[in-house]
Amino acid sequence: MKRTISDQLFEKAKTLFPGGVNSPVRAFKAVGGHPLFIERGEGAHIYDADGNGFIDFCCSYGPLILGHAPAEVVSAVNETVKKGTTFGAPTKLENELAEMIISNHSYIEKIRFVNSGTEAVMSGVRLARGYTGRDKIIKFEGCYHGHVDSLMVNAGSGLATLGTSSSAGVPEAYVKETIVLPLHDEDAVKKAIEEYKDDIACIIIEPIPANNGLLLQDKKFLQFLRDICTSEGIMLFFDEVISGFRVGFEGAAGLYGIAPDIISFGKIIGGGLPVGAYGASNEIMSCVAPDGPVYQAGTLSGNPVAMAAGKAQIKACLSDGFYENLERKAAGFAGEINAFAEAKGYAFKIFRVGSIFWVAFTEKEAIVRSSDIDQNSMANFKTLHGALLERGVYIGPSGFEVGFISRAHSSDDLKKAVAAFKESLEMIF
Ligand code: PLP
Repeated sequence: MKRTISDQLFEKAKTLFPGGVNSPVRAFKAVGGHPLFIERGEGAHIYDADGNGFIDFCCSYGPLILGHAPAEVVSAVNETVKKGTTFGAPTKLENELAEMIISNHSYIEKIRFVNSGTEAVMSGVRLARGYTGRDKIIKFEGCYHGHVDSLMVNAGSGLATLGTSSSAGVPEAYVKETIVLPLHDEDAVKKAIEEYKDDIACIIIEPIPANNGLLLQDKKFLQFLRDICTSEGIMLFFDEVISGFRVGFEGAAGLYGIAPDIISFGKIIGGGLPVGAYGASNEIMSCVAPDGPVYQAGTLSGNPVAMAAGKAQIKACLSDGFYENLERKAAGFAGEINAFAEAKGYAFKIFRVGSIFWVAFTEKEAIVRSSDIDQNSMANFKTLHGALLERGVYIGPSGFEVGFISRAHSSDDLKKAVAAFKESLEMIF
C-alpha cells in the first residue's frame, strides 16, 4: 500500500504537534508505523491522502452512527452555517434537539449542552459534588471519562496504549478524592462505602465499559450500584458518552432498565460535530447555574451548526427499526468471525453489545476487568491491524479500542470485512 503522502504529512505534523497528533491514540504508537491522513469519508468508507480506500470500523471512535457524510447531516449543516456560526445567545435549534432527546429518554428531565464528552463528565461530577455537598468520587479501573484531572487515574485505552494508567500533571490533592475500584466487584464497593460513606458524592461508571476493551458488566452489578447509591445517598453517574444513543436510544440505562441520577453524553449527540451534554432530573439540574450554585458555562455551548447536525442524526436514530437493523448487521458480522475462529480453534473472539465490538486474542468466554486482559495479546493485535489495513479494513490503532458498525455499513462491506478478518487470522495462527 502506498503511503508516501501520509508519511510526508506526518513528518510535517511532528514539527507542529506533540507526537504529530492532536489526540494521542491517533499516533499509531501501539501498532507501529505512521498514521494515515484521511482526506474524505463517504458512507462506511474512508480515503487517505494517497488515495487508499478502507471500510471504516473506527467511525471516529463512535460519533458516526450514520457513517461518513450522511446526506441529512450534511444538508442540515450547510443550511444552518449560512445563517451564522455562533451568536452567544439561545437559538431554537437548542430547544429542538433537547426536546427530541428528553421526550424520548426516560431517565433525564433536563439537559445542558457542552462541547465534548470530557466537559460533560467534568460538569456532571461538579454537579454531583454540588448537589450532595460531598467531595469524594468512586470510579472503576479501566473506565475512561475524558481527560478530567480527577478522573485521570487508571483511565483506560489512551493511557493503556501508552503503557501507563494515569497522567502526570494531576495534583495529588485531586486524585486523593478519587477512589478507584475494580469493576464487577461488589465487595470492593461495599468496603469503600463503609470507609468513606458520608464523603462520597457519586459513583461514576461507563455502564458499558468500552475504553479498555469491552468489559461487559452484568446487570446485577449495575443494579447493585443503583441500590447501594440509593441507600447511602450517593449519586449514580452513568457516563454514556459511548453507549448513549448507541446500544439503543436510551443507551445502557434503557438497555438494562436502570435509572442513574446523572448521565453524560457525547459523540453521537453531535452528529460528528463537537457536542457533549449532561442530564438529570429537574430537581438535580436545578442546582446548575443560573438557577443554582453549581457554575458551568461555555462560549460555544449549544452551537447552532452542531445542534443542527445533532438534530439530523438523532432524528435518524429515532426512525423505525434503526437499532434493530444495526443489531442484525453487527450480530451477523461478529457471529461469522467468531464461528470461524472457533471452528479453527483460534484463541480469538469478538465481544459485542449492539453495534459496539472489541476484537480480543483470548480463550476466555468473558472479560470483565482490565486486569484480565492479556497484555501479550497486543502483539497479535498489532499484526492483525496491519493485515486488515493491507486488506482495506480500518480499525482503531490500539487493541484497547472498540470498533463500531454504522447505518452505512452495507452487507457487501461487512462480507468483505469478514473475509479480510478470516484471511488475517489465518495468517496469524
Ligand atoms: N467518557 C467516555 C466514556 C468516553 O469514551 C470519552 C471519549 O472517548 C469521554 C468521556 C471523553 O469524551 P471527549 O473525547 O469528547 O472529550
